[in-house]
Amino acid sequence: MSKEKIIIFDTTLRDGEQSPGASLSVAEKLEIAQQLAALGVDVIEAGFPVSSPAQFEATALVAEQVSGPVIAGLARASQKDIEAAGKAVAPAKKKRIHTFIATSPIHMEHKLKKNSEEVLKMAVEAVRCAKSFVDDVEFSPEDATRSDIAFLIEILTAVIEAGATTLNIPDTVGYILPYEYGQIIARLKSDVPHIDDCIISTHCHNDLGMAVANSLAGVRNGARQVECTVNGLGERAGNAALEEIVMAIHTRADFFAKTGSQPLRTNIKTNQIHRTSQLVSRLTGFVIQPNKAIVGENAFAHEAGVHVDGVLKERTTYEIMTPESIGLSGSRMVLGRHTGRHGFTDRCRQLGFKLTKAELERAYQRFLEIADKKKEVFDEDIAVIINDEIRVVEQIYELKYLHVACGTGTLPTASVKMRTKDGTKQAAACGDGPVDAAYEAIREATGQSPKLESYSIRAVTSGKEALGEATVKITEEGRTYIGRGISTDIIEASAKAYVDAINRMVSAKDKGEQPEIKAEL
Ligand SMILES: [Zn+2]
Repeated sequence: MSKEKIIIFDTTLRDGEQSPGASLSVAEKLEIAQQLAALGVDVIEAGFPVSSPAQFEATALVAEQVSGPVIAGLARASQKDIEAAGKAVAPAKKKRIHTFIATSPIHMEHKLKKNSEEVLKMAVEAVRCAKSFVDDVEFSPEDATRSDIAFLIEILTAVIEAGATTLNIPDTVGYILPYEYGQIIARLKSDVPHIDDCIISTHCHNDLGMAVANSLAGVRNGARQVECTVNGLGERAGNAALEEIVMAIHTRADFFAKTGSQPLRTNIKTNQIHRTSQLVSRLTGFVIQPNKAIVGENAFAHEAGVHVDGVLKERTTYEIMTPESIGLSGSRMVLGRHTGRHGFTDRCRQLGFKLTKAELERAYQRFLEIADKKKEVFDEDIAVIINDEIRVVEQIYELKYLHVACGTGTLPTASVKMRTKDGTKQAAACGDGPVDAAYEAIREATGQSPKLESYSIRAVTSGKEALGEATVKITEEGRTYIGRGISTDIIEASAKAYVDAINRMVSAKDKGEQPEIKAEL
């Protein structure tokens, strides 16, 4: 029996990027989009183009440069929004406009201040307008799960007639439970005329921890597209996690084959999951909890003696998926200071990095510096070296020198030398700890004093000479900026991360970037 395909619609760059504190630059969005294409997602929702010039630019860039997936742009049910989305996705080979309007009594009355006839008319007009830009139009009745089912049937019937080809049923506020959500999908599938000519889609939020379970209940009842995000990023408690949806469909093919009409499949190359998850975590600054399903650090770690014993004798005793299936390879390549340019270039290529000659040279020089301090350089190290070196953010301030003195019974002090637009600046400061002292000295030298929201450091690989990666979040005027820095010295990594965040902040201000409008969906 042929397998029926589940369309994976990734909204990491739109819904995921709306997570409080996740803010990605245009270049970072492009990098994630390229990895999503390598992962094999069917649709990438690249942004909400009308909300800001940066959102428009990112959507247009993804549409222009990323091939393979359909590129979608989000639009409220208004001509201005739809025009912006239509223009932004225009360069894509396969393009979609995703338009939405709220249909629940509570949203129509308090947010839209419109009655149901007005909302229905706006939805139909929006779909018609979108249809003048693209063939592929998706419609979402926002807050569908708290809407009147008779009205849902009415509005979906009307938008299908107007040309919508995908009908998305959002559980915007994460309210529904799996059994109920399945019933809604089944009811729509049986009662909306011509719905079999369209794809029914799920979009579930995780406020009650049900996003993945609800999405799968939707699939079980006939939905054939799932909207999801890498690592479950998204508004509030997040969206359905792509990796969980995909691995559930792959691992429990037997369940769907038994209960659905046909076995199911996705186009996802599951061995790209781990890598995609790491990239998104690094670029958004959202650390993955160790016990997170599929991609958490402990997801495949067997510590308890009886488990280890079982797994050694027969893997399937305690393992329902293999680490290899998500791209965690058992053996890691190790490079060292004797690795030549050729060997390094080869490994970068095998790891999937596409670098220009100049970028490769910069990454290689940085690799040599690190290999000098750290005998073994692992694949994970190479990934962070490349991400650290191939920065697109303008180096308005550069840390040239850092010295920190601390010890028991002494006041931690730091001195820095920084390159700035007006030449070199030096500063010295003391603080509660060495990192605090270094940050104070950097504030002094740059004249910038954003609020430090959070600071974390992780070892990229294990071992006492591990490379440390620091991530800081700073805020100013309500906007968040994330900076990262790596070094074998954690104080230096922390200082670099702080300078990186300040550079991002200053460059955004120079460009006059405005806070974006958010789409609740
Ligand atoms: Zn959402």
